[in-house]
Amino acid sequence: MRLLIMGPPGAGKGTQAAVIAQRLGIPHISTGDIFRANVSEGTPLGIEAKRYMDAGEYVPDGVTNAMVRDRLAQADCGPGFLLDGYPRTVEQVGELDGMLKASGVSLDRVIELTVDTDVVVGRLVKRAADQGRSDDTEDVIRRRLEVYAEQTAPLIAVYQSRGLVVRVNGMGDVAEVTSRVLAAVGVDG
Ligand code: AMP
Repeated sequence: MRLLIMGPPGAGKGTQAAVIAQRLGIPHISTGDIFRANVSEGTPLGIEAKRYMDAGEYVPDGVTNAMVRDRLAQADCGPGFLLDGYPRTVEQVGELDGMLKASGVSLDRVIELTVDTDVVVGRLVKRAADQGRSDDTEDVIRRRLEVYAEQTAPLIAVYQSRGLVVRVNGMGDVAEVTSRVLAAVGVDG
């Protein structure tokens, strides 16, 4: 199964994506996690990405697209994948379309996790404290939410027009939300 998970920062995408991908036996591909791994290892990609991440801005499309292209070409993505945090811009949607078309495959579903904005900010502040993420100060959180609203929220309409979006209420405890997501993609919890 080839899935995307979308929703504002702090909606619980990463947490849900990890559980769902494991349940479905497909790789969980989080562009944020890949960037963070590169930042901790001090790779050239990490050094480049960190400047943008720390400001709450998106890493340039060229860098991000190349990274996803490499990852999706790996053998474990053959049976499917769950992409978390990509695509985030109109250009990335076009790039992903091209990558999938070149492999003769297509997306099965786009999961949209919905949450209250107040709850999202609270979650992000708590996660910043728990994980020490340098992109989770209050100003940066606000900027990330703005960038999401400007650049990424409109992508949901693009996938809606293709009939792919399943909207899932992301409020509640983790297991409850997981069951809703699994039901929405047609898998028994
Ligand atoms: P995330 O963990 O998904 O919230 O991503 C953390 C940060 O990584 C984002 O705020 C961006 O700076 C960067 N990032 C992750 N995915 C992308 C993407 N698809 N395009 C551009 N930047 C990204």
